[in-house]
Amino acid sequence: EDKGWIRTADRAPMQALAAELKARTATTLFVVHSANSANNAGCAGASSLARDGSRRASSDDIGLEIPPELELKGAKLSSLTQAITPRIREKRVKVSRPATENRIEQVRSGIHQTYRQLPPPAQIWKSIRHKDFTRQIRNFLWKSMHNAHCIGKFWKHIPECEEKGICQFCPGETEDLEHILLTCQRPGRKMIWKLAEELWLKKNPTWPELSIGNILGCGLASFTGADGKPFKGNERLYRILISESMCMIWKIRCDCVIGKAGEPLSQMRSTTAGYMPLTTVLTSIVF
Ligand SMILES: [Zn+2]
Repeated sequence: EDKGWIRTADRAPMQALAAELKARTATTLFVVHSANSANNAGCAGASSLARDGSRRASSDDIGLEIPPELELKGAKLSSLTQAITPRIREKRVKVSRPATENRIEQVRSGIHQTYRQLPPPAQIWKSIRHKDFTRQIRNFLWKSMHNAHCIGKFWKHIPECEEKGICQFCPGETEDLEHILLTCQRPGRKMIWKLAEELWLKKNPTWPELSIGNILGCGLASFTGADGKPFKGNERLYRILISESMCMIWKIRCDCVIGKAGEPLSQMRSTTAGYMPLTTVLTSIVF
């Protein structure tokens, strides 16, 4: 509270909790139990409730209103450090962007359907900066989260450019990101996913069904081993396979549409042969 709740995770519920405690007139005592102590039934119950909550599709509507007399605003000058002072700007009201919010919801829904987990938006933003991703993939994911690529509906309201929003390969289909990555008939797309699937099936029994939500959220892929513990190696393999495949499909699309505009379809098909060593590329990255 002295630091103005800057860089505090779950700031809103923590502020409401602090206000609740300040409203009490009696002394409040806390007892800290270690997770390994004999009397840890309460800790286990809390962990179980938290785990169940993270898997629910919707959250409860919890009142977080704070009475004005109990809400302290700003940070104490004596508590400021060089690390948190620049973060004061964070507290400005962020302007919501519907396209970004829709995409984040798509990713949350995709992750929930595939892995039975519902990550908060902050976790999704963190996942696209994973160290396993190249800078190029991070940039692609960031733009995708903001739906900021100049494709599909972007061209709809620009005079004389409306046809640029339609896929060159699939008559009448709007060329949005989901279409490009998952349903387009452009040569190369199906082959790339097939190779990625074959590589994955060499070490795993099943290949998760792909959706725009779970491929953009591949940084949050969650797999468990036979012992029920997280299988980190598999998660890394999947993260790299999906992100590299996704970016390769995007590159092929951009080469066709921007780099090689006007090229006959027969020649465009032959150019995809240049991407054939995908298995080699992915294998060298993953293993
Ligand atoms: Zn298409």
